[in-house]
Amino acid sequence: MLNKLKYYYCHNYLYATVFVLLGYMAFQYHCQHQNLTNSIKTYDESLKLYQNKLDEVIEHHNEIFNVCDSLIHIMDSLPLGSPLDTLVISSNFGSRKNKLTQKWEYHPGTDFIADWRDTVYATGHGIIEVSHYNSGYGRTIVIGHGSGYKSRYAHLTRYFVKKGDAVKRGDPIGIAGNTGNSRGYHLHYEVMRTNQGFNRITDPKNYIIL
Ligand SMILES: [Zn+2]
Repeated sequence: MLNKLKYYYCHNYLYATVFVLLGYMAFQYHCQHQNLTNSIKTYDESLKLYQNKLDEVIEHHNEIFNVCDSLIHIMDSLPLGSPLDTLVISSNFGSRKNKLTQKWEYHPGTDFIADWRDTVYATGHGIIEVSHYNSGYGRTIVIGHGSGYKSRYAHLTRYFVKKGDAVKRGDPIGIAGNTGNSRGYHLHYEVMRTNQGFNRITDPKNYIIL
């Protein structure tokens, strides 16, 4: 009888211990599962935050890229190139004394030494606006560069382009000459900037940087 009682209590005690142990393990599992769920939720939120930040960075990068692209386009259009292979100035922009009349006169461009074989190049991307004989300028080419800038090439012998042609910086557009009001072979080169509807002629030397 005593042995039976011992057996009975011993087994109940064992069951209770196992039950408590299983309960403890279930609780631990629940806690760990909850922690893991919270971690995944935090990770998802962080990932979304980083993705949004990355999207902002990419958008910002694209904006900068577009601005750079526009600047490059503007730089290409400006008359910053050289109109001849070799530049030697024979007469500067501004006031100068006429050797024949001995009177001071305004010279709206820069004269470069050239002969009848020298190729004249477009100094920036643009559209040919003038390609014909123009009294004192002789055979003349004018390129419209956009952004309000134009360049003029005067006293030419030959044209390689006609009105409406698109040219890029460095494209051959004609041959230097001695046409119009000119005393000897040279290239008369002008840079004009349109400001509020007026053509303002500037010193071309300041633009030749390429
Ligand atoms: Zn001149």
